[in-house]
Amino acid sequence: MRIRPVTLVLCMVLLAAVAAIAVIAPGTMEAKEKLAIELAATPTPTADVRSMLQVTIDPRNTPTPTPLLLKLGAQNDEVRRLQQRLKELGFYTGEVDGQFGQGTQASVILFQEQHGLTADGIAGEGTRTRLYSQSAQTFIPTPTPAPTPASLLKKGDQGDDVRRLQERLKELGYYAGSLDGDFGGGTEEAVRLFQRQNGLGVDGSAGKQTFALLYSEGAKQVTITPTPDPNTLPILVNRDHPIDEDFEPRHLVKLTNVVPSSVAKIKGSDIEGDRTAVNALIEMLKAAHADGVTNWQVSAGYRSYRYQQKLFDQQVQEYRGQGFTQANAVSATRQTVADPGTSEHHTGLAFDLTVPGTIFKGTPEQIWLHKHCWDYGFIIRYPEDKEKITGYIAECWHVRYVGLPHSQDMRDRNLCLEEYLDVN
Ligand SMILES: [Zn+2]
Repeated sequence: MRIRPVTLVLCMVLLAAVAAIAVIAPGTMEAKEKLAIELAATPTPTADVRSMLQVTIDPRNTPTPTPLLLKLGAQNDEVRRLQQRLKELGFYTGEVDGQFGQGTQASVILFQEQHGLTADGIAGEGTRTRLYSQSAQTFIPTPTPAPTPASLLKKGDQGDDVRRLQERLKELGYYAGSLDGDFGGGTEEAVRLFQRQNGLGVDGSAGKQTFALLYSEGAKQVTITPTPDPNTLPILVNRDHPIDEDFEPRHLVKLTNVVPSSVAKIKGSDIEGDRTAVNALIEMLKAAHADGVTNWQVSAGYRSYRYQQKLFDQQVQEYRGQGFTQANAVSATRQTVADPGTSEHHTGLAFDLTVPGTIFKGTPEQIWLHKHCWDYGFIIRYPEDKEKITGYIAECWHVRYVGLPHSQDMRDRNLCLEEYLDVN
């Protein structure tokens, strides 16, 4: 076997090194063992140091985001939002303070149990997705059996039967008022909401059918519309975007039940509106009163598809009576009455505001409305300078609730709804 010179040189170097260690280091076995242990403990150097550095500075090598787990001890805005939602649904009764304490944990567990989720008290992705969905149920307490009163209960009634009715409506989440045994506007709204959400005829009085369902296993908990998300764009209803024939707003309230008579006259006891929009309307009109502008009337609100059909047909008949042909009567009607399905009033988000006994245009109310409605989530839906775009002759009395910040944004950029939705 031939030994190559290179190997020979290496062997000599190695021998020299061993000799050097033998000379320098103390010749005890103990020291040699120590050295061996230290050498073994030293990490093996990485072959390529540059590759390590590259890993560190590679911009693509960002850490995987940790999924947001809200649990005991957490404290932030997301916890606040969680508490707010749990409260809306009746699972949480504590303070909305953004601090995930025992109470929040207990209500998360209640929510999870009722929805068939792992009841660990931690609000992870799964729990929160369910919580903010339309299918989130309200808290179901232990059902209470109660007797059915012999007679129909309606607005104006008083007594223990009414109190029991309020109690049951409260358990199911429909009623938030006091259990005073007094069947007022608030109780009527609760009965109407129960009837609407449980597929009964909506009349606001509690008769046999309503009572039977109210105390049955089939009584549904109230479905609460989630807090409106300001990022959601407003719904567009016009001739090109008709609403479905079966569309019905989720939570209609009767204006006479919720708008104080000192705030506005309600023309007709049947005028209804979407709860959120009506609340904004009340706030707006109260602000007008504070400014000394007080003579308000609500002339129109929610209209069903069928009702709009009736209005349309009536107007066509009127033109026919004036000698118009059918085609001309229809096209003339379209100038002022929306085709069924194309009226914003179907959404429950539009109202016609007037001053009793006079033309609205030019009144202090009209001037105030056009200046301030934007700050309360309303827009002037059919302005004069947008007739070509909206397709409607200006209606200075018709306001539409779109919510904040959309209304202010539309004012600041002078956009009507069609333009706003196109440019967004
Ligand atoms: Zn209108």
